[in-house]
Amino acid sequence: MDPQPEPRQKILLVDDTPANLVILGEELQHDYEVFVATNGFQALKIVDSNPPDLILLDIMMPMMDGYEVCRRLKDTSETSGIPIIFITAMDAEEDEARGLEAGAVDYITKPFHLPIVRARVRTHMDLKRKTDILQHLSSHDGLTGIFNRRRFDEVIDREWRRAARKRQSLSLILLDIDGFKGYNDNYGHLIGDQCLQQVATILNASLRRAGDFLARYGGEEFVVVLPDTDVDQAIYIAERMRQAVAEKRIEHAFSHVAPYITISVGVVSTKPGNIINHQALLELADQAMYCAKNSGRNCVVHQVLPHTNT
Ligand code: GH3
Ligand code: MG
Ligand code: MG
Repeated sequence: MDPQPEPRQKILLVDDTPANLVILGEELQHDYEVFVATNGFQALKIVDSNPPDLILLDIMMPMMDGYEVCRRLKDTSETSGIPIIFITAMDAEEDEARGLEAGAVDYITKPFHLPIVRARVRTHMDLKRKTDILQHLSSHDGLTGIFNRRRFDEVIDREWRRAARKRQSLSLILLDIDGFKGYNDNYGHLIGDQCLQQVATILNASLRRAGDFLARYGGEEFVVVLPDTDVDQAIYIAERMRQAVAEKRIEHAFSHVAPYITISVGVVSTKPGNIINHQALLELADQAMYCAKNSGRNCVVHQVLPHTNT
């Protein structure tokens, strides 16, 4: 199979002088997918709906200047990683210092020299590509392609605080493949790896809501974070996952539970005001999962925490 061509990187040009957009756009469209905005509001809207890999940002613009656009993008976690190059007629050293201070990666003064713009854009696009790869590697599991434990730790911390702030319930599912040691020992590690990939795909397909989060917790254990989800909904989803895995009938002739791959699932749900922290929540999910193991495996066990009004 031929390797997939890399998608073209996206660049957003922001300038209130249309002539600048035309000159820059014509030059950069050979190498990048180009988007343009003639004011700050329009720029923020485009970034929100279709995040670019790099922004070339004018400073002097009516209504909202480039510094303000930059500040807003750097203040938002989803957009703070997008590199910004100021491209401006403000050529005093203090202006450049202020631009770099605001978080821009580079500063180009007008009138610009196209080959210099092109070269600097290429440098920052190359860096962006590498940063994206590193970010993906640090948050995803290499075998299954789903999120990893490190990302889970960040997400549970964020969702725990969000649930407390919004006074919503939060559910956690922890699940483990039954008799997986026997599977590996008999079918071999390679087939074991393929099984883990298959299970990850099945679990992923069982989640429907955008905020639901699945990660490989380690070995043959997976974890799911369900924001704004109460215990009944969480049990329903856990049961759907258990069934989906069993119904796939992945042969496991050496399991003591069934002739196919099954999972044991622990569910824990809480509401804000519970005195426990999210580490304790995880421990309770773990206990529920071991309860499922002790109850014969291939089943769902849940824990509910009392809601204390603090
Ligand atoms: P239980 O029903 O109690 O969960 O029993 P089990 O055999 O699944 O549990 P145990 O913890 O004894 O075995 C887990 C096995 O998972 C051991 C290890 O060989 C296997 N395993 C963990 N990570 C990987 C992996 O990345 N690839 C493969 N192929 N196997 C793995
Ligand atoms: Mg297991
Ligand atoms: Mg295990």
